[in-house]
Amino acid sequence: MSWIDTHCHLDAAEFDADRDAVVARARAAGVAMMVLPAVEVANFEAVRALAEAHGFAYALGIHPLYVPRAADDDLDRLAEAIERWRDDPRLVAVGEIGLDHFVPGLDRARQERFYQAQLKLARRAGLPVILHVRRSADDLLKGLRRIEVAGGICHAFNGSLPQAEAFVARGFALGFGGAMTYERALNIRALAAGLPAHALVLETDAPDIPPHWLYRTAAERAAGATSRNEPAELPRIAATLATLRGWTPGQTASQTAANAGAVLPRLAAWRAGTS
Ligand code: ZN
Repeated sequence: MSWIDTHCHLDAAEFDADRDAVVARARAAGVAMMVLPAVEVANFEAVRALAEAHGFAYALGIHPLYVPRAADDDLDRLAEAIERWRDDPRLVAVGEIGLDHFVPGLDRARQERFYQAQLKLARRAGLPVILHVRRSADDLLKGLRRIEVAGGICHAFNGSLPQAEAFVARGFALGFGGAMTYERALNIRALAAGLPAHALVLETDAPDIPPHWLYRTAAERAAGATSRNEPAELPRIAATLATLRGWTPGQTASQTAANAGAVLPRLAAWRAGTS
């Protein structure tokens, strides 16, 4: 069985001490492919180089939570990087981009400006986008109506069913990961169970969003326990989706991999060319 982790921050500092072992564990668990999204200009080269070194895919973009420390001309740096790597089959999307209306104190106008500018870059390059959606689904959809792109993935989606359907109608799949493994995550579980089969992709968001078996309380973390998520957890996370859908593990792997290829066409083309 072969799995795709459509969202893994493999370049994160949390993996500095044992990154090769993390990749080896993922492969041993059947995670054959990962998409490594960038978050700011400073990590573009790190994600590209990691993707090249390990045979993974990557995306280039400026994450909304990194917009405050970005320079205005970082959008030009992004445009240059997309241009430079546009023939690299591993560059499969513009991301991680989007809007975050959950974290307090962010400059909404500046987030919007970066979001819309990055949608335009994606449209110009003919690339899909990987979206960060937190309390921002309607504003993201507004941007997509104005600046039409080639679909993509809504990562860690936790919006309403009508919002989910609006993204799916625009050629997006929704990313499900560790949050789905919590029994109290009723909304996410209802979406995972009820959306059309073609609308679902799997992701870990590692090192973030640990599944319930890695969860540690604040007190445990203060005492030194860690709750780092890693891509090797993907098949076990996928077992939750399989249960919710009534799918076998094999069906879950093949359906979600096909979905990832459908919304990230360069990933599908590249994998078809290399297998
Ligand atoms: Zn992310």
